[in-house]
Amino acid sequence: MTRFDEFKDIQKKLKAYGLVLNIASWDSNTEAPKDCFPYRSEMLSIISGEHFSLMTSQTYQDIIRDLLDQQDDLSETQYKEVEKAKKSLDKIVKIPKHEYVEFSKLRNMANRVWEEARENEDFEQFKPYLEKIIDFQKKMVSYRSSTTQPYNVLLDDYEEGMDMDKYDHFFQTIKDELVPFVQDILNNKPKEKPSYITESFPKQKQKQFVEYLLEVFDYNLNRGVLKESAHPFTWNTHSKDVRLTVRYLENYVFSSIFAAIHELGHALYEQQVDEMFDMTNLNSGASMGIHESQSRFYENIIGRSKAFWEAHFDKLKTLFSHQLKDVEIDDFYHAINWVEESFIRVEADELTYPLHILLRYELERAIFNDGISVDALPELWNKKMKSYLNVDVEKPSDGILQDVHWSGGAFGYFPTYALGSAYAAQLYYAMKEALDIEKLVKDNNIKAINTWLKENIHCFGSRLKPEEIIQKVTNEPFNPKYYIRYLKEKYTELYLKK
Ligand SMILES: [Zn+2]
Repeated sequence: MTRFDEFKDIQKKLKAYGLVLNIASWDSNTEAPKDCFPYRSEMLSIISGEHFSLMTSQTYQDIIRDLLDQQDDLSETQYKEVEKAKKSLDKIVKIPKHEYVEFSKLRNMANRVWEEARENEDFEQFKPYLEKIIDFQKKMVSYRSSTTQPYNVLLDDYEEGMDMDKYDHFFQTIKDELVPFVQDILNNKPKEKPSYITESFPKQKQKQFVEYLLEVFDYNLNRGVLKESAHPFTWNTHSKDVRLTVRYLENYVFSSIFAAIHELGHALYEQQVDEMFDMTNLNSGASMGIHESQSRFYENIIGRSKAFWEAHFDKLKTLFSHQLKDVEIDDFYHAINWVEESFIRVEADELTYPLHILLRYELERAIFNDGISVDALPELWNKKMKSYLNVDVEKPSDGILQDVHWSGGAFGYFPTYALGSAYAAQLYYAMKEALDIEKLVKDNNIKAINTWLKENIHCFGSRLKPEEIIQKVTNEPFNPKYYIRYLKEKYTELYLKK
């Protein structure tokens, strides 16, 4: 048995534990009855413990070290596998086990307190936990690297290769170019939102439309499942088991339609990873940012385009003949791209969305880099909301308490959402050189687009790093100007052309 065989052997065991834990989490989020959790978490914590012990075992660490010492004997893919394993290992192995466990307990606790605080509209209740989480996170990061700036370590965790320099440039571009443009649009938009948007659309018919969308996007049901859950998500273990969920809101039909297309973007990516990676740790998307680029490409660039609805509006009208009786496609196209001042990130439209992320990036940067106190955060949050989105936050649930991320210690995560949208735009202009996207979409030939994405991005799984993908597909490094161009082209046409 070679050293690499030994490595594969342990990888396979880790994957087996991973499969069990993943299936359980899919079940927890879709089917599991609510009283099952105390028993379940106790049993699962045993499996997690086994997984952790194997992953941090001295044997495994020695194998990885040896393989990296003799990397000339490895093929390129083998090397990438080992390199990725080393990276996951480094994230946990230097942290004393008791502190790792303590941090995990703190996060569970903080999550419960956050939920309560949000309900009570009481930031003070959450504040001591947020302080503890931040201190703990700083300490965790210091174990891993004493030289890299803490926020850079976290940013790299969520998007390999990204750091404050790169994000500063990105968000400065958004601030300079997009903030004034959004103001312009908001000043020029019609005051009244069309009322049919919030009429009642029966759930059963929404479901029928979502099933129709699965076909339109050529999602492979032999390798996937559609279910309902409180928050839509995509779940996968390898290319032949990629599932997604949606939820149906009777009075807001756009929710299920666009969440479905968004999750389909994530799911198609995973279904199209080359099966040669199934048994490796490279068998999933390249990064959070690249993943989000795919979901947002399908959701916004395809799903919210006029061409898409030229092909599918009739189908929607047949299902909802009463609700959409007097609605013309142009009005519908406007309604699905409605821009407005809003408090809540997850409900924001495509154009104002990055401003919500800009605010969070600036706050996280201030927390980790400038040591700003937690006391100062709510006021800073509200001030930025006023200046970027022109809204006055009146209660914490509309402001600083709206997102779950910080209660789980997930700092550095938010920026990938905006980055994903920006990647999507850059990839879109590259794709346009090769394909007549508008025509393909109008002709209901999404398959051709899927194939292009498969060959250029999806098939590689995580064998290529995010920056390698962007460079390879677009012939230049990440450049936010494409995102600005895309948004300005689309929303000028929609709102500023009289
Ligand atoms: Zn997503």
